[in-house]
Amino acid sequence: MSTFRTLDDLGDVTGKVALVRGDLNLPMQDGTVTDDTRVRAAAATILELAGKGAKVLLLAHFCRPKGERVSTQSLSMVIDCLQSVLEREVMFVSEIAGPVVAQSLGILRPGDIAVLENTRFWKGEEKNDPELVKAIAANGDFYVNDAFSAAHRAHASTEGLAHVLPAYAGRSMQAELEALEKALGNPQKPVAAVVGGAKVSSKLDVLKHLVGKVDHLIIGGGMANTFLAARGVSVGKSLCEHDLAATAEEILDNADKAGCTVHLPYDVAVAKEFAANPSSLRICNVHEVAADEMILDVGPLAVEALGDVLKICRTLVWNGPLGAFEIAPFDAATVALARTAAALSREGSLVSVAGGGDTVAALNHAGVAGDFSYVSTAGGAFLEWMEGKELPGVVALER
Ligand code: ADP
Ligand code: MG
Repeated sequence: MSTFRTLDDLGDVTGKVALVRGDLNLPMQDGTVTDDTRVRAAAATILELAGKGAKVLLLAHFCRPKGERVSTQSLSMVIDCLQSVLEREVMFVSEIAGPVVAQSLGILRPGDIAVLENTRFWKGEEKNDPELVKAIAANGDFYVNDAFSAAHRAHASTEGLAHVLPAYAGRSMQAELEALEKALGNPQKPVAAVVGGAKVSSKLDVLKHLVGKVDHLIIGGGMANTFLAARGVSVGKSLCEHDLAATAEEILDNADKAGCTVHLPYDVAVAKEFAANPSSLRICNVHEVAADEMILDVGPLAVEALGDVLKICRTLVWNGPLGAFEIAPFDAATVALARTAAALSREGSLVSVAGGGDTVAALNHAGVAGDFSYVSTAGGAFLEWMEGKELPGVVALER
């Protein structure tokens, strides 16, 4: 049961002004959008509101202009992309509040769409300044937050507006919250988590939170080396944070107390150099890593056993690749386990939720992103959610 209002709760909005916070922080090169994934994610909410006859004003940030107008960071640059994805005319307004916005509203008809300027051109945005919030709200009738990826920030456009206008979750926010609720909020058990990636230090809070939440914690990637080393395994030249040995021990102890089974690799792919298909490539037991070798991937026996763990689980949450997946053949474990998870998800026996920049890239590389129940592209917000933190943009919608 969701504790936030959605677009289903809207009454008649004909001619009303919807202030919609979206994620339009699009990757660009030379003024052209290189990936329109975020616009496609925002389209459902925008078109639904326009279809209901609202005047849609889109609010979003782009890059980090730090409270100054930076012409190369104007949201006018996303208009072409929006028009082609939405197949609709989209107006650009060079302000986010005040008479210029009010005048535009006189021109817009019900069902029309406009993009307001980069919210971060105004200092009050990141300060969540009540004056700016009031000024933006003055031109709107209701507020829709569709930017989960910005929900870990309490900014004027992501949090403040929810307190002064009737507030609703947009469709992509709603989908994200529902998927996350299924994965960790109120999941079907047993629950498995895969945590990989480069370093323990960047995911300490994730690991600490997950051991109290999940039944199986699968640790891979460079961070597994830190755990192995803490257990007395010689990891050679592997990426390893030896100074975090005590922390790793503590996490393993807490897992034990919470009844969470931690899975560390028992065989690994090693090499002497970090290069594609190196001649020094070898698969060995974790206890056989030589002093001049690096662990770059989980080994095939361990991956098979991990697949068996997923088969007895009903829910999976995944952040971080199991190996240095950018370089062949160290993508093998990530690809194999991702394919197992995808097959189980297709069969309906596993709810699978994944997130993280490199994780999404790895799932795309494995060709299975579409088979996961939900793939979050939210980055920082997804990680904070994995850490068990409350996201201010979400909390504001709930109250
Ligand atoms: P995400 O972006 O999904 O949160 P991370 O940024 O934490 O993931 O981790 C991804 C990085 O971890 C990749 O660049 C990958 O090469 C690296 N990595 C994974 N396993 C290893 C390893 N054994 N040794 C060195 N780097 C690794
Ligand atoms: Mg990353």
